[in-house]
Amino acid sequence: MYQELSIYVDFDDCLCETARVFSSLALRLFGIDVPYEDIRYFNLQRSFALTDKQYERMMIEGHRSEVLLSYDETPGAVDTVNEWIDTGYQVSVITGRPFSAYEASREWLDMHGLKRVKLYCLNKYGRDNFIKGSDFDLEIDDYRRMHFDFAIEDSPSAFPFFEHLKELRVMVYDRPWNRECELPGRNYCRCTDWDMIRRLVR
Ligand SMILES: [Mg+2]
Repeated sequence: MYQELSIYVDFDDCLCETARVFSSLALRLFGIDVPYEDIRYFNLQRSFALTDKQYERMMIEGHRSEVLLSYDETPGAVDTVNEWIDTGYQVSVITGRPFSAYEASREWLDMHGLKRVKLYCLNKYGRDNFIKGSDFDLEIDDYRRMHFDFAIEDSPSAFPFFEHLKELRVMVYDRPWNRECELPGRNYCRCTDWDMIRRLVR
């Protein structure tokens, strides 16, 4: 029987190459050179050994609209997502970006041919990982009422958001900062690229 699948897709470092931009920002702003391959922690403050002030400055710079719009697509992401939507699947982009970044994030999606995906800002990472005083448009309780069959996520910090979905299959987008992390269950699998994700969802 035909069943419409519902798919959760994270934005940064799943749909687009965010960490590479932050790596070059750290170099430009502070002369701190940590290439993408050497980013060991999802927490960039820790990965780049930044002070609180430097971290805040880098996050604000990285969330300016012009900078958000400049992020490169992760190869294969757009085609795969559009193929799913053509098939009738529901695709929701659930980002940990603050709501102040919503408009530019929406524009990035539209510009890259992803007008049909829904976009939600969910406070996934707590107050440590984002600009202080941020707002989000998806409440945790409302998020927990949503159902997903598949999730594509790069951040181990977001794994607790999958605990209530027992049938969910989580595809962890392989990144330098999640390689040492033990995957929490047999429903998790590491994916090296969007081709692999596309094959697994089919
Ligand atoms: Mg991410």
